[in-house]
Amino acid sequence: MSLQVPNHHKERICSLYSDDEVLDEDDRSSPPWPNESSKSSFCLPHTGRLSPSIKEDSSQLAAVIKMGWLDKNPPQGALYYQRRWVKLDVDYLRYFDNEKEVYSKGLISTAFITSVSSVGELKFEVATNNRTFIFRAESETERNEWVCVLRDCTGGRHRQSSLTSGSPLAPDYQGYLELRGLRSKLYTVVASDKVFLYKNIDDYRIGVGITSIDMNVGNVKDSDRRSFDLTTPYRIFSFIAESEQMREQWVKAMREAIGEALSNSEVVERIWAEPSNSSCADCGAPKPDWAAINLCVVICKRCAGEHRGLGPSISKVRSLKMDKKVWTEELIQVFLGLGNERVNSFWAANIPPSEALSPSSGSEDRRRFITNKYRQGKYRKYHPLYGNQRELNNALCINVQCSDLLETLSLIFCGADVNCSTGMASCPTPESLASTHSQPLQAELLRHNLNTELPQLQVDGGMDLEHYQPPPTVSYNGFLHKTASMGRAVTERKVKEDFSRRWCTLNDGTFSYYESDKNAIPNGTLKDSDIVCLAVDAPDKHGFEFTFELYSESDRLYLFGTDDPDSHKEWVKCIAKSFIPASAEPLLRLSFERIGRLKCKDGLNLQQSKVGWFALTGSTLHVYLEKNKGEEIHLRKLNELSIQQDNEVLVLVEKGRTLYIEGERKLDFAGWCAAIQAAAGSGGDTLSQQQLTETDIPVIVLSCIDYITQCGLTSEGIYRKSGVNSRVAALCERFRQDARSLRLKEGEHQVDDVSNTLKRFFRDLEEGLFTTENGSNWLGATAIQDENEKISEYKVLLDRLPRVNKATLQALINHLYCVQRFADLNQMNLHNLAIVFGPTLFQTDGKDYTAGRAIEDLIQHYILIFEVDEQQLNKQLEEIKAIIKMREKLNTKFPVRNADIHPRTEGDGHFICTVYLEELKATAEQHVKIPGSMTAAELAYEVLDRRNIPVKEKDYWSCWEVCENQEIERPLHYQERVLPILHSVGNESLLLIKKQPAMDAMITYLGTKVDVSKHGMMKFREERAFLGLGLPTGNFHDRFFILNSTSLRMYKDVRSNKPERDWGVKNLKIYLGIKKKLRPPTCWGLTVVYESKKQDKPERQQWYLCCETQTEMREWYATFLSIQYEGNLWPQDGLQQSRVSRVLPDTRHGNVSLIPLRGSENEMRNSVAAFSQDALALLRDVR
Ligand SMILES: [Zn+2]
Repeated sequence: MSLQVPNHHKERICSLYSDDEVLDEDDRSSPPWPNESSKSSFCLPHTGRLSPSIKEDSSQLAAVIKMGWLDKNPPQGALYYQRRWVKLDVDYLRYFDNEKEVYSKGLISTAFITSVSSVGELKFEVATNNRTFIFRAESETERNEWVCVLRDCTGGRHRQSSLTSGSPLAPDYQGYLELRGLRSKLYTVVASDKVFLYKNIDDYRIGVGITSIDMNVGNVKDSDRRSFDLTTPYRIFSFIAESEQMREQWVKAMREAIGEALSNSEVVERIWAEPSNSSCADCGAPKPDWAAINLCVVICKRCAGEHRGLGPSISKVRSLKMDKKVWTEELIQVFLGLGNERVNSFWAANIPPSEALSPSSGSEDRRRFITNKYRQGKYRKYHPLYGNQRELNNALCINVQCSDLLETLSLIFCGADVNCSTGMASCPTPESLASTHSQPLQAELLRHNLNTELPQLQVDGGMDLEHYQPPPTVSYNGFLHKTASMGRAVTERKVKEDFSRRWCTLNDGTFSYYESDKNAIPNGTLKDSDIVCLAVDAPDKHGFEFTFELYSESDRLYLFGTDDPDSHKEWVKCIAKSFIPASAEPLLRLSFERIGRLKCKDGLNLQQSKVGWFALTGSTLHVYLEKNKGEEIHLRKLNELSIQQDNEVLVLVEKGRTLYIEGERKLDFAGWCAAIQAAAGSGGDTLSQQQLTETDIPVIVLSCIDYITQCGLTSEGIYRKSGVNSRVAALCERFRQDARSLRLKEGEHQVDDVSNTLKRFFRDLEEGLFTTENGSNWLGATAIQDENEKISEYKVLLDRLPRVNKATLQALINHLYCVQRFADLNQMNLHNLAIVFGPTLFQTDGKDYTAGRAIEDLIQHYILIFEVDEQQLNKQLEEIKAIIKMREKLNTKFPVRNADIHPRTEGDGHFICTVYLEELKATAEQHVKIPGSMTAAELAYEVLDRRNIPVKEKDYWSCWEVCENQEIERPLHYQERVLPILHSVGNESLLLIKKQPAMDAMITYLGTKVDVSKHGMMKFREERAFLGLGLPTGNFHDRFFILNSTSLRMYKDVRSNKPERDWGVKNLKIYLGIKKKLRPPTCWGLTVVYESKKQDKPERQQWYLCCETQTEMREWYATFLSIQYEGNLWPQDGLQQSRVSRVLPDTRHGNVSLIPLRGSENEMRNSVAAFSQDALALLRDVR
């Protein structure tokens, strides 16, 4: 059948091209459409087939809010207005050449309209972000009506102009397509059951298109190589794709759209079969394609939008076209059995004519009406039993056994309890009762109302919508601004323009966001079970003042913002409530910065991880690992905090326990790590904001004091000599970042650097050790003549100090007291110490001695002022003497370990593990505390030291991981951390300290090599994970291997070009030995474990390599190690180096004495004064 158009006048030539484009020749010389004489298939039938009934089929007509003739402003440069037939529906404002046209010349997505205003005589302006359209009506009334409906249509989103972004469509396929007869290509978008044409991609992005084609009347046919036709009863669109391949894609996408359209119309056609369902139950608009499935009404899209505003506890809104799954046969039958007319005999029994809606009613009226009708039940027909709960329930139970659906509806919405007890054990609920009595439709109706909130008429009849009370289950909605979801952390500031305004709802355990409050289909949803973390940003982090981040199970991050603090607070509260289980409910009462779930293990049970619920507030981590049992972890008081195993485990060591938090997902884990680290770091420059020990002393202070006590008490001029300024600055910075992780080590750190770090800490301390408020009182006390009176005054002042200051002062004065007790060794007597510490602690310039006097008093009367137990103090002094003696005796051979000599070292939660020495016998057992930072060498040394085993040169004592019934073993690299090994191995693995006999030979071998690589034959066997059982398969086969700095490649034989396998060397763990069960052909075998720690696909493979000789095996092994550890197989200075260090200061670094050691008091004061004014000044003076 020919669809061609007979001749017609030129002004009737219709263009598909949007006429506000530069290409506006359509009304003049050369139409972009081939004219009629070309017999093109682009024809516009005006007769015959274009009967009104066919047009009715177009869903574009269904929801038309207003239509009529308007003059549209001409394209740029043109002079006269063009007469256009204009139609408005919820989604689009479209304009056509005439009223018979099916395909518009242009369409503007209402979602992108930013403002509508009257301009000049009879004119009005429709503005989008990028473009303004001007229309002229025929009368003032007409103009005002258009403005009114347009505003109403876009009213829900008086968005800031910058916020419109993205597309209202969720495209299935898109790209440029040539439309035969047009000079330029069109940006074509296949979305759901429609095809949209845009002039270009930019227009698509701003929601200004040419036309849309409903695919329910479409048919797609291939024509030749690159072209295909989309035919509809009104027009044939001949498209040309860029390639044959592309054509196939397009045809496929469009056919799918047709399929979608046809299946979409299935439900709707059936529902409309009941005549009263073909107009909206609320406003009467034709062809309603939405429904409130619990209220049993079929409604139009605009009314559906208002229904959604009520929340799903009142109205469960579903599309007849898109929500195919909910439309069970039973539900369709319920809607056919009831029908809008009968249902309205209940819902709309008493509507005052003044309140009734019409299809053209504005949203305000709609909202009011729909709220009255369903939330308040204002117009319903009251059931005779209304108010009598028992009778209602009773009636419901009886009625559901018969087929009267309307009565059930009436009972439910007049207060009968859908969940009431029937009193029958066999069918305890009305729903089961209905099912038992073969009333599936009754059961279906009940099922959709199990959680429905009953209509409640407000006494004053008011329409106060703002005070919507959420039902007991968390429910909340409102506008938020959202950025596109992300697969990475938000590191940059997001400006307002990056956010789009979205209508968000939280209901039935689902958080959804919509294009606007008019849309019924969410742009996206997140189930509460998918939310793993909620993080509240500090105000003003982004363009919106208040923002929060949601992290999903699938590792996406969603950023939401608002300028309204109350709304922000409410959203955070409600979302947290929706996904935090009742067992961790107290977390919700905290004003957390971050809340969510994480997998973790604790020191008591390393084998099994469990889910923990965490909330972070300030520097406290609140944890629920077990039901209803909350714990608090004070992050600034942790003994240790580290991220281990390739950033996959966060280890928190606190007094008495160790907690491992595992990174199950990348994003939220990284967020937690950063937040916990920040919270555990020093929070600022005041004393109480530092990382603290259990006894409330800053970690930095105690670290320095401990270090000086051990290594510096005999150092001449300790605290008077200056360190190297750059090193002091670096130490201060390291402490500031994470004091806990810094372990001061002799040899690595110089005594004078550490002593100056301590001084600088106190000097720079905000508010000082004595507090800004009270500092002068302390100084004033020095003037008191009577000693006893003075001491009492100091005691009073001491009690006035905050807890942390008091504890810190006591620790420091205790330390200084000890220092001056050894003045014969270090030359720092009471007076000298006071000169140095007075100005430092009081933060004065040191020009007069008042501050020094105060410190002198405090040290001198330490015992009285601080009420010190003298016995305890003497014990401490004895210990220090022992240290000094031991250091003299041992000289540099052995380390002095913290734990043995220092009672102040606190009990910590380090994992205690059993380590064997030389043999796996009970008598060889050692129980060792393993801090997270402990290396294999440190562990080996610790064990040897306990057993008093001296370490000789070329004794390659190592820590071995022994597993598989001791059939395979692996010496840990000396720098390898021990804790991750304990953390990852099963019960069958053991740690054994023994010598590594082959080390010397390996080092010698590697010394002969120019480059580290190896190739040769080995016998290979693989262990494939078969059905997850890890059954060994196959036998040993000869293979050729090449090992180089990056990978191990396996070839079938020497001549093969292509490797059969290729492993990254860094991911391999090599054990010596092979399980006997596998019958290795030689006894020189290696077991190789390949572990890939990829987030998405963790992988573990195991295979075996057999060598002909021991030498061969050793060489392979040495090469592996050398590559993995970049040639660093053994500490250069032997194992001792790992713990023992030089006591003598490293003079190479120029340990210049900046303060004259034995100078006059005046010289000392001046240099202290200079130091306090400009830390660098002294350095400059000297140089
Ligand atoms: Zn309606």
